[in-house]
Amino acid sequence: MTPSPERDDLAAIRAGVRAVVTRFDDAYWLARDADGAFPTEFHRAMAEGGWLGITMPVAQGGAGLGVTEAAVMMHEVASHGGGMTAASSVHINLFGPHPIVVAGTAVQQARWIPRLVAGADQVAFGFTEPDAGLDTTRITTFAEKVDGGYLVSGQKVWTSTAQVAGKIMLLTRTTRRAACARPTDGITLFYTDLDRARIEVRRIGKMGRAAVDSNALFIDRLFVPEADRIGAEGAGFETILHSLNPERILIAAEAIGIGQDALRRATDYARDRTVFDRPIGQNQGVQHPLAERWMYLEAAWLMVLHAAALYDAGAPCGAEANSAKFLGARAGHEACWQAIATLGGYGYAREYHVERLYREVAITRLAPITEQLILCFVAEKVLGLPRSY
Ligand SMILES: Cc1cc2nc3c(=O)[nH]c(=O)nc-3n(C[C@H](O)[C@H](O)[C@H](O)COP(=O)(O)OP(=O)(O)OC[C@H]3O[C@@H](n4cnc5c(N)ncnc54)[C@H](O)[C@@H]3O)c2cc1C
Repeated sequence: MTPSPERDDLAAIRAGVRAVVTRFDDAYWLARDADGAFPTEFHRAMAEGGWLGITMPVAQGGAGLGVTEAAVMMHEVASHGGGMTAASSVHINLFGPHPIVVAGTAVQQARWIPRLVAGADQVAFGFTEPDAGLDTTRITTFAEKVDGGYLVSGQKVWTSTAQVAGKIMLLTRTTRRAACARPTDGITLFYTDLDRARIEVRRIGKMGRAAVDSNALFIDRLFVPEADRIGAEGAGFETILHSLNPERILIAAEAIGIGQDALRRATDYARDRTVFDRPIGQNQGVQHPLAERWMYLEAAWLMVLHAAALYDAGAPCGAEANSAKFLGARAGHEACWQAIATLGGYGYAREYHVERLYREVAITRLAPITEQLILCFVAEKVLGLPRSY
């Protein structure tokens, strides 16, 4: 189930990542799904292998590679039973801290990036708010200017890894929306300590990816020093845009990897399982949907590589990155369902893993952006139709 032939350097990345990922078997991921404990051993192994710094600047201990290499890495991470639990536990390090690379000062980069590369710091992303949803400019978490820094109060939701992270990338308003010329003005980004004395973190029970927590955050007068502000005050919205397209591309790669993992399990099963004196995979009703899922996954992977190549070349890639995310998530999710259908009743059993992959891959259709909003974007920006949202 390997995707289309690759450059030698990408094949080497794939082999290196696989050597680490395959040390963690299905039983390990099944246990994390049951106990909800963060996969610390896996995270550490990836850090020790040097993989967490793949996209970080060489000067800060990273490998300085592009989103193409990161997509291959994350595709491999997601392809061996760990699903979104494996992927999310490392992917936040790849392009999430990109605002530091793009807009951070040399001092900030030296302070923060080597620790991220080493896996010594984990970062949570406090962007989404309960009353703003996908309309990011409606956030109300407010950073009030005080001597030497800011006092931040407000609420965030869905903040992943906040149970284990020591750092938080925090999106705030420093000017209320009503007082701004444009809704995107007045937003300020910080990278600071996740101070539990000032931030209450409440875990959200959820459908899948049990071991990578998501949380509601209640922030009460958190002091953030001025040195922890990324970029200029009020310029946070522009800064976060830099990490959005890479994130969509990586999520797509992960969803495709999970779908191919499920498809591999389904085809193995269909070859072996004999009913009515023949392998079930000899029936066209079983094999055709699997063949179709293979085609959609391969096509989505080509869109991932296309979007990644554009990004790495510094070309606009919004339409391609969003399309990769849409197609990859759809193809991955549908492949996982087809795997359940192929295994029949056993597809519903925990010990066959495909129901877990199905629960995990569902996230990729919802976050960090939903399918509807991607369709709105393509309709407006590519097809030239009136903005609908
Ligand atoms: C497991 C998980 C982990 C997450 N991790 C993080 C994290 O670490 N940090 C973080 O900041 N956020 C995180 N998120 C949040 C995620 O990015 C949001 O859930 C997502 O952006 C959708 O926002 P919402 O749930 O508020 O949907 P809403 O904005 O409430 O939208 C609800 C539905 O309405 C649709 N809709 C809304 N407006 C329109 C329109 N104009 N036209 C068509 N359809 C529309 C949407 O597409 C969606 O289907 C996570 C979410 C999940 C599920």
